[in-house]
Amino acid sequence: MNTVVITGAASGMGLEATELFLSRKWNVVMADFDDVNGVKIAKKLSDLFPGQVYFHKTDVSNDKSVANLFDASIKQFKTIDSVINNAGIFVKGALHEVQEDAWDRIMNIDVKSIYLMTKYFVPAMIEQQHGSIVNTASISGITGDYNMAAYSAAKGAVVNLVRSMALDYGKYNIRVNNIVPGPTNTALFQNNPQSVIDGFKNASPIGRLTEPEDIARMMFLLASDEGKSITGQNIQVNTGFGIYSSQPV
Ligand code: NAD
Repeated sequence: MNTVVITGAASGMGLEATELFLSRKWNVVMADFDDVNGVKIAKKLSDLFPGQVYFHKTDVSNDKSVANLFDASIKQFKTIDSVINNAGIFVKGALHEVQEDAWDRIMNIDVKSIYLMTKYFVPAMIEQQHGSIVNTASISGITGDYNMAAYSAAKGAVVNLVRSMALDYGKYNIRVNNIVPGPTNTALFQNNPQSVIDGFKNASPIGRLTEPEDIARMMFLLASDEGKSITGQNIQVNTGFGIYSSQPV
C-alpha cells in the first residue's frame, strides 16, 4: 500500500485530499498544527479506513517538529511514497502595511516549510529511488494581486522552487510538481460576502468556483503513478480564473 504525508490536512484542500487518498487505498499521515480538529477527524476517518490514517501534530515551519513528523511517519507506515506540502496561511495588505512578524510567519509557513519537509523526507526517497512531492502554490504567485504582497511573494517563491527541486531530484526518480489553485470553495472562502463570491464566479469563463475536490483529484494524479510523466510543472486548477488580460471589450 502506498503512503502519503499531507500537511494542512485538518481543513480545506488537505482534508479533501486525505479523504480521496484513503478512498483510493493509500495510507495517509495527516500533519497539521490544529490537533483539536485533526485528532477528531482522524478518529472518524480511521473508523471508515482502519489502519490507514495517522494524525501527527506538526508545525511545518519548525525544524524539530518536521523531524519528529518524519520519524513518526516512518514508524507508522515504514516507507513514504509521496509528500503533499499543502499547509499555508494568508496575510493581507500592501507591502508597507505588513508587520514584520506576519512577513516572517508567512515566509516560514508557506515557503520554509517546503525546505524543511524536503530536508527530512527526501533522503529516504533518494534511498528508495522513488517519490513524488506536490506543493500547493497559488495563482497569486503567478499574477500580482491587490493587498496580497506577502502572500504573492511567498507563493511566487513556491512557483519557481518547483523547477529547481524537479531538476535536482529527477535523477533519483523523484517528481516534484505544484498545484496552482485559484479561488477555491473552502470553508474560509465561503466567509466572503455573496457579492465577492459572485465576482469570482464571473471572472471564470465557465462561471464557477473551483471545488476542493477538484484540487484533491489533481493532487492524487500528481502524487501517484497516474502522473508519472509530469515533473517540474505548475498545474493550474482554477476554472480558468486569471487567463484574461483584462482588456476592455
Ligand atoms: P485552510 O486554511 O482550510 O487549511 C490550511 C491548514 O493548514 C489548516 O488546517 C491549518 O491548521 C494548517 N496550518 C496552518 N499553519 C500550519 C503550520 N504552521 N503547521 C501545520 N499546519 C498548519 O486552507 P485551504 O484553503 O485548504 O488552503 C490550502 C493551501 O492552498 C494553502 O497553501 C493555501 O495558501 C493554498 N491556496 C488556497 C486557495 C483558496 O482559495 N482556498 C487559493 C490558492 C491557494
